[in-house]
Amino acid sequence: MNKSIFKSPLSLLLLKKILLVSGCLTIILTCIQLALSYVERKQRVEQLLHDIERVHGQPISRAIFELDASGAELIAEGIQSYNFISYVSITGLGKGSTETIEVGSPIKQDDGLAFLSPEISDFFGGFSVEHTFDLNYGFNNTVAKVGEVKLATSGSLLIDELKNDAFVILVSQAFKTLIVSAVLLSVFYGLIVSRIITIHRWLLKYSPDKEFLPVEFGCKQLFDDEIEDLKNGVNSVGKSLRRHNVELESIVEQRTTALTIRTKELEEAKTKLEHLAYTDSLTSVANRLAFFEHAEREVKRARRLSYDIGIMMLDLDYFKKINDAYGHEAGDEVLVKAAEALKNGLREDDYIGRIGGEEFAIIVSGADKVGMHNLASRLKQSIQALEFSFSGKKQNITTSIGYTLVNVDESFKVSLKRADEHLYLAKENGRNCFVTDKNYVVNIA
Ligand code: GH3
Ligand code: MG
Ligand code: MG
Repeated sequence: MNKSIFKSPLSLLLLKKILLVSGCLTIILTCIQLALSYVERKQRVEQLLHDIERVHGQPISRAIFELDASGAELIAEGIQSYNFISYVSITGLGKGSTETIEVGSPIKQDDGLAFLSPEISDFFGGFSVEHTFDLNYGFNNTVAKVGEVKLATSGSLLIDELKNDAFVILVSQAFKTLIVSAVLLSVFYGLIVSRIITIHRWLLKYSPDKEFLPVEFGCKQLFDDEIEDLKNGVNSVGKSLRRHNVELESIVEQRTTALTIRTKELEEAKTKLEHLAYTDSLTSVANRLAFFEHAEREVKRARRLSYDIGIMMLDLDYFKKINDAYGHEAGDEVLVKAAEALKNGLREDDYIGRIGGEEFAIIVSGADKVGMHNLASRLKQSIQALEFSFSGKKQNITTSIGYTLVNVDESFKVSLKRADEHLYLAKENGRNCFVTDKNYVVNIA
């Protein structure tokens, strides 16, 4: 038998029920069989007692009639020798009288002689079968009653036999119950429990995220029962869950892809917008907003890391005249080329912004007065070196410059204002020149 049957709570429950029911039935059937056996055995004993009467009745009657006490005693002893007899009592009336005679060495009783066997204590009430018969003797063509015989069987003998019967019945019933239980359990386990276990194990492993494999019973036999219906139901639910999950995954994937693309587009748009928001569309250098934000950050950084910062402001000279003489587009071209020239004249760390119509400002990181002087000189020359041709006429431009260094204890705006004042002075001084604080002036021999 499959060992796992005993690990199955359902099988154990069934076993308990079988044992309980068959136990009760065994007890009832045993009682019935014992009762029947008792009746049958009692009838057999009664038959034996009647046989004794038939065999020994006449000889005892003659012995009593002839007052042959020793003969009667011998017969009584003969009867007593039967193992199932526990009590023999012979009462003789004597020859034509009521005289009581003694046979052997009997125990004296009120109404005659009794031969009592040692097992008299084995009467066992109802289990002892008693039989009394008259002793009749015929003489002179008449039959007269000459005495009476009382027999009793040993109750314990019947009980022993019934005990044996009970043992045999119980053992056979128990054996039968065991076989039936084992067969029933095996069938029950194979038909029901094992298939329920298969479905349960499948459910434990089932996940709608994994590829769908239906529940299959190991046995080849085809069933058409409730568990087969259950299996089909589980398969159908599992399959549709898997299908929904696949559909859901596909929708999620589509949406994630769309979202990724959208996020990428948004990022690009954001970068573009930021670029537009911080870049001057004409010259592609930083616009006023970007320049001021960068300047604030750079000043803080310079204070933290202890390096100097220079601020330079440039304004193209007589720019309005170009617009007026050659048109706005010519002015735009000048602005683009001037910005490019300025940018090319800077180091990587320097930062240029267009802060007005034809005004540019530069943040110079790690500046000193010589460096600023050289830069102003270089930028002034690079602007002057630009050559334009408008309406067939060659045209050059110049720029005025004002610059200063940011003091440790002042704000960026204050230093910018000072650079602007220097720029104004440069214009005053006749343009195409640069001006700075007195203490930053570099005298070149
Ligand atoms: P100054 O030497 O004193 O600086 O004289 P200026 O003519 O350069 O100065 P002004 O402030 O009188 O003229 C600046 C002109 O720049 C006025 C304006 O029309 C022009 N302007 C401002 N922005 C642009 C632009 O984006 N494109 C063009 N083409 N012109 C611009
Ligand atoms: Mg100006
Ligand atoms: Mg100008």
